[in-house]
Amino acid sequence: MRLAAIRLHWVRVPLWEPFRISNGEVSVKDAILVQIEAGGTTGWGEASPLAGSAYSGETPQSTWDFLRDHLVPSFLDQPELDPLRCFDHLSKLPGEPFAKAGLEGAVWDLHAQQIGVPLWSLLGGHKRPIASGATVGLMPEVSELLNRVQRFLSQGYRRVKIKIAPGRDLELVSAVRKRFGNIPLMVDANGAYQLKDAGLFQELDSFDLMMIEQPLAREALTEHAELQARLRTPICLDESAENLVAVQSIIRQGSGRILNIKVQRMGGLWPARQAHDLAMAAGISCWLGTMPELGIASAQGLHLATLPNFTLPSDVVASDRWFADDVTDPRISISGDGFICLSDGSGMGYRVAVDRVRKYCIRTEELRA
Ligand code: MG
Repeated sequence: MRLAAIRLHWVRVPLWEPFRISNGEVSVKDAILVQIEAGGTTGWGEASPLAGSAYSGETPQSTWDFLRDHLVPSFLDQPELDPLRCFDHLSKLPGEPFAKAGLEGAVWDLHAQQIGVPLWSLLGGHKRPIASGATVGLMPEVSELLNRVQRFLSQGYRRVKIKIAPGRDLELVSAVRKRFGNIPLMVDANGAYQLKDAGLFQELDSFDLMMIEQPLAREALTEHAELQARLRTPICLDESAENLVAVQSIIRQGSGRILNIKVQRMGGLWPARQAHDLAMAAGISCWLGTMPELGIASAQGLHLATLPNFTLPSDVVASDRWFADDVTDPRISISGDGFICLSDGSGMGYRVAVDRVRKYCIRTEELRA
């Protein structure tokens, strides 16, 4: 594959409601779309950091700068690139997982289209509907939390995750269990607790949660292992699973029994697949997380989620959960029983709606070899 041109499009799509993070909130979804053309075919990828720097070290601006000034120029110098050579090339450069995921996704999409196969088959997956799970953030009132849970259950979502924080944990879990009985339920603490809070998690053990996601700090792998040894409920590592080296440490130390794998954080589909393979060999279950992302990154993640050890519902949800619009046709949607089905088309199987890319684009740039 010889690359003709790479276009970058910085899009900004409105959210229905603010996405609240630990030290702020965002009301728009920024993404840098990567459009690669070669041999008359177009591949698309999405680098998808949230605005601000609260959720990750990378921001839309830093990702745009890295793609435009470093990654894409170094890429255009390569005579020929297939996805695995692309991965080799990217692995030699430090950091910037979001930018790498955007470029790598476009190369995979292009390659799959050129050989006429769906992305999942190239990634080693097996086509199947992917179970989707919804998340409720910390709500000011318990009644609001219960209303949200009710809404997601009626939309068919296959499990519900609720965010917890010190002082806002047992009460919330207990209220949801009391109202909705034995639904598939999990909690996410985003690293807000310490090992001295083990007693609280032992109390949560009696609520039969599917898992407790990231109870302790990102770097606290030994403490997670100590906590897991005291609990019946599986611990799921999210923030801690930041790259392949971290995944290996998690496995070696026994820090948890489940992994949340995010393509953007891992720096692309292939490193995310490697994390999946490492976990599978160690008997650790996985599910596919999201940052969240627009339709392109969501679709590509769903192809990856067809791999055999992604056994738990994904955080990838319908486009209309967060976004007033999306850049793919069709948009990501879930069936009435909470599954997302991939098409049999080649590549990611979702068409990119160029008119909507244009509508939401705030910056665009074309780079040529
Ligand atoms: Mg999480």
